[in-house]
Amino acid sequence: MRPKRIVIIGGGPGGNQCATHAARLGAEVTVVERDIVGGAAHLWDCIPSKAMIATGETLGLMRTARGMGISDVSASLDFTALRQRIESIEHRLEHSVTGLLESQGVALVQGSGRLVGPHEVVVDGPDGETHLDADVIVLATGSRPRLPAWAPVDGRRVLSTRDAYPPEELPEHLVVIGAGVTGVEFVHMFSAFGSQVTFIVSRQQVLPQKDPEVAAALEEDFLERGVRLFKGARAESIEVGEGTVSVRCDDGRQATGSHCLLAVGSVPNSDGLGLEAAGVDTDGGYVVVDHNCRSSVPHIYAAGDLSGKLPLSSVASMQGRKIAEHCMGLHGGPHRHLDYEKAASAIFTVPEIADVGLAEADAFAEGRKIRVTKVPFSANAKALIANDPRGFVKIVSDPATGVVLGGSIVGRNAAELISVIALAVTAGLRVTDIVESLLVHPALAEALADAAE
Ligand SMILES: Cc1cc2nc3c(=O)[nH]c(=O)nc-3n(C[C@H](O)[C@H](O)[C@H](O)COP(=O)(O)OP(=O)(O)OC[C@H]3O[C@@H](n4cnc5c(N)ncnc54)[C@H](O)[C@@H]3O)c2cc1C
Repeated sequence: MRPKRIVIIGGGPGGNQCATHAARLGAEVTVVERDIVGGAAHLWDCIPSKAMIATGETLGLMRTARGMGISDVSASLDFTALRQRIESIEHRLEHSVTGLLESQGVALVQGSGRLVGPHEVVVDGPDGETHLDADVIVLATGSRPRLPAWAPVDGRRVLSTRDAYPPEELPEHLVVIGAGVTGVEFVHMFSAFGSQVTFIVSRQQVLPQKDPEVAAALEEDFLERGVRLFKGARAESIEVGEGTVSVRCDDGRQATGSHCLLAVGSVPNSDGLGLEAAGVDTDGGYVVVDHNCRSSVPHIYAAGDLSGKLPLSSVASMQGRKIAEHCMGLHGGPHRHLDYEKAASAIFTVPEIADVGLAEADAFAEGRKIRVTKVPFSANAKALIANDPRGFVKIVSDPATGVVLGGSIVGRNAAELISVIALAVTAGLRVTDIVESLLVHPALAEALADAAE
């Protein structure tokens, strides 16, 4: 029997995870990519933003070096070196993903793919059109920043997130619009570089979707850094003047800076993809999928941001993996459906923020009985040794069974530490399983065991 032919449009985390996993399971896989393998995640989103944050963090460490017993530390930012550093990380990652795909026998086709029928993809590439027939098609074309009509984005003074890696010059005063994860990461990044930052937040809370206690810890840090917060203000227009950018809000307030950055969500890359020709249902441009990531056409799947689920690289990758298993017929065995409520996520600010599973506020709103235990890092030896005792660990569990339902961490290395709680939530472990783990001392992870006690 000939192997199943799978054509994947889009080589970001959703597409490339699906490709390598399906190839390992015996499929004949082709990935169509118009830009770089690794996707927007590597080129525009996760990687460059975290590389810039890491540089800001190093600057911050140098500024606080006195607290570690070090004197005479001076540091300045070199944007050219920073740009080179980001490009070098991107090249290395692109190289490693391409190598992995090739090692699994995945064919790569350069160009823009579209459906011309339920089983046929056409690629418009540098050498003209290529036709690909498929038994299964996976759409993983991602998303791009939403640019409101009232925002005169020019890539110089009025920036989308994609113009900021890094911008041509360090903004003297950056006005950031957008209270979500992306907005707060940019506020954090540029304030760490030394820019004055004004943050326009349409709600009464930074990170409106997060635990209020977690959001409050971040707001406190922003205020300490001198970030000006415009809460409850919705940006309505932007005026670019001689060296200035003025953002007017619906409550009459106006924020004037040297630059402005928009972080107001994303739109799916579904235009021109031929979804109608193939009979694929969409909602607001996102492909409608079931719990197996299958669209209204059973052999066409969607992974990643295009599926309109959680817009995270980690979720895109896991969707890709699950799609590979489903279309290769493994879903009858030990296959587990993706449970988006158990996805861990992090915000790479200082203090770092991470959470997973049931949030205390949501349990409260649902009237659900929970046990919440919380421990501050100020009681943790490693946090004191590292001169960074900010934040806390919070664990939410079932009071009857002790099963871990969720948790949040604010503090150093939160994005790494949350893995323990994520594993507990996914595997249905109890708080005693964490308490009785023989952990390293001194370690930040000891705060997890203390919180689970
Ligand atoms: C500033 C920012 C920071 C972020 N940081 C994080 C983070 O730290 N952690 C995290 O988990 N998530 C993060 N995200 C979210 C994450 O980047 C996305 O969820 C992730 O990239 C989605 O992966 P994807 O595979 O769906 O799409 P993408 O990564 O967008 O890849 C899609 C690929 O498809 C290609 N493509 C599109 N159309 C076509 C076509 N017609 N033919 C051929 N190729 C096509 C594109 O060129 C692209 O390479 C961040 C997002 C932003 C905006």
